[in-house]
Amino acid sequence: MNSPAAPAGRPSTEQLINELQSSGVRLIDPKAGVESRRGGAGPSDHKAITVNGITVMVPVHTAPAFDSPYVAEAPDATGRGRILRDGIALGTISFPQRPRFYDLSTADGIPYWKIAVLHGNDVLATTVLQSCIRYRSRTKTCQFCAIGQSLAAGRTIERKTPAQLAAVAKAAVELDGVRHMVMTTGTPAGGDRGAAILADSASAIKAVVDLPIQGQCEPPDDDAWFARMHDAGIDTLGMHLEAVTPSVRARIMPGKATVPLARYLDAFAAAVPVFGRGQVSTYILAGLGDSAAAILDIAGTLIELGVYPFVVPFVPISGTPLEGHPAPTAAFMHAILAPLAAMLRRADLLAAGIKAGCGKCGACSALSTHERADVA
Ligand code: SF4
Repeated sequence: MNSPAAPAGRPSTEQLINELQSSGVRLIDPKAGVESRRGGAGPSDHKAITVNGITVMVPVHTAPAFDSPYVAEAPDATGRGRILRDGIALGTISFPQRPRFYDLSTADGIPYWKIAVLHGNDVLATTVLQSCIRYRSRTKTCQFCAIGQSLAAGRTIERKTPAQLAAVAKAAVELDGVRHMVMTTGTPAGGDRGAAILADSASAIKAVVDLPIQGQCEPPDDDAWFARMHDAGIDTLGMHLEAVTPSVRARIMPGKATVPLARYLDAFAAAVPVFGRGQVSTYILAGLGDSAAAILDIAGTLIELGVYPFVVPFVPISGTPLEGHPAPTAAFMHAILAPLAAMLRRADLLAAGIKAGCGKCGACSALSTHERADVA
C-alpha cells in the first residue's frame, strides 16, 4: 500500500507517523481498540492505531504522551476518528479490534492473552521466557527494558510452554487471521542464549499451524544453532543491537554490551546463508545517544551482509531507568529513516520481502512507510 498523498500544508503519512511516535498521543477514549501494551520486552506503553490505513504502535502511557499536542478522537459509529493538533485534523484513524482468541483459556485456566498478544493488526507476539539473566541486576540490565513489569503485574506468565504457544497460535490464525508470529525471549543462563527454547516452541507451533515465525535472541555461542532454529520452523531471525556506538551500548545496556559488535556482525554473516538474504534483521533504537550518521553507517554494513536494519524510535517506558529520557524528535527520525529507506530500496532489501517478524510488521517505526513512499 502506498501512503496517501497529503493535502497541501498537512504532513505526509510518514511524517505524521514520525510525529506521533515521537510525541505520543492523547486518547479521548482510552478503551477504543485493543488494550494498550504496558511493560514486557521491547517497545511498550503504546497502542495499535491505524493512521491513514497504516497500523502503527503509538506511545500513549509515556511522559511525552501525557503532554502530546496530538489528540486521537474517539471512534464514531463506523469505527473511524481523526488525529487532531490544535483542533486541525491531520489524518484519519481507526483502532484494530480486540481479537477473539483473547476470550479463550487453557484447560488449567490461563487466559490466552497472558501467553501471546496481538501486535499491530495481524501479528501474534510472545516473550517465551519472561525473565532475563541481564534484568536482575541494575548494573547489567538494559536501561530501556521492562520485561519484568508485565510479569510482576500478573499480565503474563514467566515461561510459555511449546504446547501453550501452539494452542494460542492455532486459535489466533483460525479466529483472527493472524499472519505471522514474533517470538522473543529474555536471555537465559547458558550458551544458546534462548535459541533452544525458541526452536522447541517453533517446532510445536509448526506441527499444528502453518504460521511464519520470527525468533529473536542474542547471538548464541555456537553458530550451529542457526540451522537448528531454522530446521525447527523459525523462518526469520532477529538479533538486536539496540544501540550501535560502543560507548552508548556500554552506558545503556551494560550487560548485553559485553557481547561486542564484532560478535554480532560475525553472527549475522553466519545466519544470513541459513535464513536467506533479508530474513535476518536487527532492531536499532534511535534516540539513545547514537548519532544519525553512526546508525546509517552501521546500517550500510548490515545491508551489505543482507541484514535488515529495523530502526525504531526509542520509547521511554514508565518504571524503567530511562523513563525520563527524551524520545527522539520526529526530525531526527526523519533524518535517519528517509536515507535508510533509500538505501534499502537500492539494495532491494525491503520490509515487504520479509517472511515474518518486526521488520515485516513495521508498526513500531515509520521505516516501511518511508520505503513505500519512496516508491510512490
Ligand atoms: S514491530 Fe515488532 S514489537 Fe513492534 S508491534 Fe510489530 S511485532 Fe510488535
